[in-house]
Amino acid sequence: MTVPGLLIVISGPSGTGKGSICRCLLKRRPDIFLSVSATTRLPRAGETNGKEYHFKDKTEFEAMLAQDEFLEWASVYDNYYGTPRTPVDSALAQGRDVLLEIDIKGALKVKQKAPEGIYIFLVPPSMEVLRTRITGRGTDSMEVISKRLGKSMEELSYLYEYNYVVVNDVLEEAAAKVESIIIAEKSRTHRYRIQSNAGPEEPLLVEKDLKNW
Ligand code: 5GP
Repeated sequence: MTVPGLLIVISGPSGTGKGSICRCLLKRRPDIFLSVSATTRLPRAGETNGKEYHFKDKTEFEAMLAQDEFLEWASVYDNYYGTPRTPVDSALAQGRDVLLEIDIKGALKVKQKAPEGIYIFLVPPSMEVLRTRITGRGTDSMEVISKRLGKSMEELSYLYEYNYVVVNDVLEEAAAKVESIIIAEKSRTHRYRIQSNAGPEEPLLVEKDLKNW
């Protein structure tokens, strides 16, 4: 039996640096499978189809929706974003830990389906940093920027729906904290059972199959 991997959901208000943290975490832990979302938003400079996102037009996205291909989906700033279900399911089934980097609405939907997942809320260290990060992307209009700022402040109130909070001040430190959370979660006693009939060379503890969604 392969023990399913851990589902790790990184979320938080816009401008908290979710993308940077995930990239940094994946450098430290290349064994983690990053889910690539589908989106109807246009690619930004430097983004490649299939790498950052699967870029779809509205019709293609709606066809995927109709086929129930998403684990969750949400409309974020007038674009659709969704997590394709099959790659996540198969990576978990193969025992790989899976990372989702999604918005708060999406994270709460996943939590309903997979309460055994690990839900990590990222917050910026200060209002000033949040403002700079949202403005600094340089690709969005003033209207979009002020929409994002307002929404980020509102979204902070979802903190308590999550298991962990990480303040993204120094990138490497924040990524190290996320990694520590993953290590700690994988060491929790409820994940293991004692193998009392283990042979002399066999491990005394084995991981339990906790997947129930
Ligand atoms: P961006 O357009 O800046 O890449 O992403 C905008 C927001 O959409 C971010 O908060 C990002 O985390 C979120 N997002 C990206 N992929 C998904 C997804 O598959 N589902 C949901 N619900 N949100 C997503």
